[in-house]
Amino acid sequence: MKKLIKNVNIVNADSILENTNIIINGKYIEKITDVIPDGEFEIIDAGGGVAIPGLVNAHTHSPMTLLRNYADGYNLQTWLNEYIFPVEDRLSDDDAYWASMLAQAEMIASGTTLFHDMYMFMPQVVKATEESGMKALLGRGATYFGNPLFSEHQGTIESIELFKEYNGSADGRIKVDMAPHAVYTTNDKFLMHMKELAEEFGTSLHIHLSETAKENDDATAQYGKSPAQYLYDLGIFDVKVIAAHCVHLSDDDISILKNAGATAVHNPSSNLKLGSGIAPIKHLMDKGVDIAIGTDGASSNNNLNMLEELHIASLLTNGADMNPETVSASDALKWATNAASLGFHDSGKIAEGKKADIAIIDINKPHMRPVHNMRSAVCYSAGGGDVTHVFADGKMLLDKGQFTTIDIEKVYFEIDKCIKRIF
Ligand SMILES: [Zn+2]
Repeated sequence: MKKLIKNVNIVNADSILENTNIIINGKYIEKITDVIPDGEFEIIDAGGGVAIPGLVNAHTHSPMTLLRNYADGYNLQTWLNEYIFPVEDRLSDDDAYWASMLAQAEMIASGTTLFHDMYMFMPQVVKATEESGMKALLGRGATYFGNPLFSEHQGTIESIELFKEYNGSADGRIKVDMAPHAVYTTNDKFLMHMKELAEEFGTSLHIHLSETAKENDDATAQYGKSPAQYLYDLGIFDVKVIAAHCVHLSDDDISILKNAGATAVHNPSSNLKLGSGIAPIKHLMDKGVDIAIGTDGASSNNNLNMLEELHIASLLTNGADMNPETVSASDALKWATNAASLGFHDSGKIAEGKKADIAIIDINKPHMRPVHNMRSAVCYSAGGGDVTHVFADGKMLLDKGQFTTIDIEKVYFEIDKCIKRIF
């Protein structure tokens, strides 16, 4: 049966439509209309709430919810090497499955419908995504130390298997890309091989880029160039690159991203928490680089709340730039709904013919009133807890704040069991 979302306001990055109704037919938005047509519908009353395109978390590590609030107050290198990597060595398939399910519950509850994940245990993330109903671009996060044959290197083997088995699976909700972790955790030979695979498979390449000043200093010492220049000289930008963080980019680096059609993923909370710095968003905007927003993992944020991330992204650059006009609410919402950057070209906007990926935000809250400007209300006033309904590919994943696909009490129970075993 078709769904009718009635009594709703629509806020896209580039348009606002008040007091209307949305008709969903299967996976798609069939009609947006002031007049409810005759016919049988499953009716969802939005109660005058604001519908936005499902938020897009363009860089995260979903199973890292297990490490939420576990190691705070360290820089990236100390945090990774002394706290994160040793615990990750103890994780099992089961841990990763429940941790990703917890992450997906959190993302759904705060209005996210699509996420871009880089981690180990990806078949478990696939399983959780199949069940949760979310959409995802998944890559096996791969490091490469020493000089193993690619045919014997776990990260390479699993990257290929993941693509062949799961790209386009879950009725098209799951796509797969290549995810070499970073310049400082791989080498030239491996990066080029990952690029060749991305080329062969026709997919993107997801990598951490210039997250810290140390990463740049080390690349300059080792290769005599910045990480972006190094990747460029290796030919990595021949494929679509989705670069997370992009905190320490020079003007030349930014030109490389722009000319290659790469996406820079802004991760403001993680960069602030780990003391990595503030990404040069104004320069990226001035040069016209494609920008998306991500939360990063739950251990460096420490949540996966894209409404909060959108809020911070809308404030941070203006403060750093000492100019309230640099980033508008519309800019921030555009970045936070940038589904095209992940290859989901028919999502990211509430419009007829687009996929029905929608989050509805309650405006009947003290902090939402009065609503002078609906887009400002979404960007500056709303919190993750204000989301009442979420749809992905037309399926309702959150109904009046209740999960329809996830048994959240079971998730909490299983996560507690995992934590007792790991720590
Ligand atoms: Zn990351």
